[in-house]
Amino acid sequence: MSYRVTLIPGDGIGPEVTAAARLVADATGVAIDWDVVDAGERAIQAHGTPLPEGVLDSIRTNRIALKGPITTPIGSGFRSVNVALRQQLDLYASVRPARAIAGEGTRYPETDLVVVREATEGLYSGVEHWVDRDHTAAETVNIITRKASDRVIRFAFELARHEHRSHVTAVHKANIMKTTGALFQTAFQEMAPKYPDIKADERLIDNMCMQLVKKPEEYSVIVTTNLFGDILSDLCAGLAGGLGVAPGALYGENIAVFEPVHGSAPKYAGQDKADPVAEILCVERLLRYLGEAEAADRVFHAVWETMAEKKVVTYDLALPGYTQRPVPASSCSAMAKEIARKVPLVDPRAPLVRPKDAAHAYDPHLEG
Ligand code: NAD
Repeated sequence: MSYRVTLIPGDGIGPEVTAAARLVADATGVAIDWDVVDAGERAIQAHGTPLPEGVLDSIRTNRIALKGPITTPIGSGFRSVNVALRQQLDLYASVRPARAIAGEGTRYPETDLVVVREATEGLYSGVEHWVDRDHTAAETVNIITRKASDRVIRFAFELARHEHRSHVTAVHKANIMKTTGALFQTAFQEMAPKYPDIKADERLIDNMCMQLVKKPEEYSVIVTTNLFGDILSDLCAGLAGGLGVAPGALYGENIAVFEPVHGSAPKYAGQDKADPVAEILCVERLLRYLGEAEAADRVFHAVWETMAEKKVVTYDLALPGYTQRPVPASSCSAMAKEIARKVPLVDPRAPLVRPKDAAHAYDPHLEG
């Protein structure tokens, strides 16, 4: 039997990192029949629209997709394809795990948390306008509904149970946003008692940012609204080693789209330089979603061992910084080949060991 999965290569570094991810997926031996469709800049050239109906049809039919990043012009031009995709397929929960891998590229090698972000409404609803003709004032409407809040908060508690995590933190700004913030807060406070086995607490967004850079190991699952979740998931990606290694997934009812946290990084497009790990870890999540747990474990172990060995890693993992052993940088395709080579060789049940010379916990006193 083979799984049919929609594949959107995307823009910028997207085609390179999705090719890398595909190579690693193939190395697992799980039969995947990729249904390749174009969205973004390539689709504009071929179809006159960045999100052709065929892309949505393919995902609706297959119920599962692997996606590369898609460029969104700032301030003008077409609306974000990423936002439109989430809204049209009702992909309401954006899940972004932030786990430090092999202690590499991070000041916080113990980081292991998941940001669950509401992805269909809030300040990304697309309801905005100029207030006056001279464009000296503008408004963006922050739409928060009880229905969308309830389902994303329930999703976060269910994820916590499924992943054996015992702590969920809601993040909001209910002290200032007395309607939208309070609505999300109330939804959380009324959902939490249904999960008595899980510790539930709340933080204001500003305080959460400070807490995360001081002691990320005290948090496990964070659930929040769209804009706060967008910002926090980049922050958490930074805690765990950077955008190059941060995977993500979008879930709706019986539908899932896997995509990295990072964007299309246009300055690296076509240079075979980008880190493929984030997109490869999307394949790991995708395989887990399909029920292919051993294949998923193999991918994770192969990524871990490649990063721990530090022989074939891309520029962002080779830089001197929070690691004690800077090395020459390899290309995106070379790192993908190395991970794919390891996939059938690793022991997926072996403990994941952090090398002795990996980054150590950040100590500001050591930084002069
Ligand atoms: P970006 O994530 O594309 O890049 C920011 C910087 O992070 C890069 O310049 C690079 O230094 C680094 N980086 C990102 N991915 C990397 C990788 N795989 N390997 C190594 N380094 C990497 O963010 P941006 O520059 O703000 O956005 C570029 C475009 O991507 C924009 O049009 C934006 O709208 C879009 N975007 C799309 C998505 C998505 O498709 N889900 C997400 C974020 C941004």
